[in-house]
Amino acid sequence: MYKVDRAYKYACQMCHEAFPNVEMCQIANSPEVELDPMNLCLCPNCASEYKKMRADEYDLEYFLEDIENLSDAEIGSMDPVEVAFGNETIWFTQTHIAEIRELRALQEAVDKYKDSAGSGQKKPVDKPVQEDDDPEAEVVVSGTDIYKDYMASDDDSYEADRELWRKLYKTYIFNNDSLDQVLEDQSLYWNDDKEIVDTFVLKTIKRFDEKKGANQELLPEFKDDEDQEFARRLFRRTILNSDYYRHLISENTKNWDLDRIAFMDIIIMQTALAEILSFPNIPVSVSLNEYVEIAKLYSTSKSGSFINGTLDGIVNQLKKEGKLTKN
Ligand SMILES: [Zn+2]
Repeated sequence: MYKVDRAYKYACQMCHEAFPNVEMCQIANSPEVELDPMNLCLCPNCASEYKKMRADEYDLEYFLEDIENLSDAEIGSMDPVEVAFGNETIWFTQTHIAEIRELRALQEAVDKYKDSAGSGQKKPVDKPVQEDDDPEAEVVVSGTDIYKDYMASDDDSYEADRELWRKLYKTYIFNNDSLDQVLEDQSLYWNDDKEIVDTFVLKTIKRFDEKKGANQELLPEFKDDEDQEFARRLFRRTILNSDYYRHLISENTKNWDLDRIAFMDIIIMQTALAEILSFPNIPVSVSLNEYVEIAKLYSTSKSGSFINGTLDGIVNQLKKEGKLTKN
């Protein structure tokens, strides 16, 4: 949302033409580019212009550099920041800029990793242990009990080899508090992801098939297309309607100043409302239970019942107003 003619409106980020409602925004999106999750709000004309410029790597490189070089003052401003892109100017909000920077940082980390992996600088697995090394931080495969047991066993089957690596991964990567700590220092968001990735890796190793050699199948990122579409749609609806959901939340928490409600609780309720209002096939009670559980896990100890009560009030209000018809 941007301030247009002294009022906050949804507007095209390029020509700044205001839309009567958010549904009019065209979401410019192309999955193969690195700014993909940054759903730009563009009118149809600007969207096609934008896609053309994205295809031009020269323009894109300058555009990304300009974003990188924005000052803290510009980013901290409540007004939209203007960034030149080719002959156009694109308005960005703080949230956009933060997202772009996070994506750039991740991309750089991936590139750096690829470089070092490609130049043959990989450490040998059986590097000798040094006395002062943190034993948990550095795993020497040949020194582990798991490896010693494996070597002492008569079983030289493929299954035994597979089990060796599964056990090593489970012990030294999955259940490694030091590694979790290192990752958490890098980014607050990584540890939740790590648990999921670890589970996937372990399942994948378990399914290793001798006949497939080095071409083992990896578990798919999503269960199916529908699952992926669900995630995208939920995310978009939450972002695009966040102001409306905030409004509903504030109306139903009259005894509370919105600023005093945990930020995490607001985000969880906004996402819950997006699910309740955008997915006719999901029963309200299923969504309610789901987000109350999420709140217990990610927010404060009181968040579960607070969110349950607030969402319940909003659902009743929307039903009375005829804006919500499912059960
Ligand atoms: Zn436009």
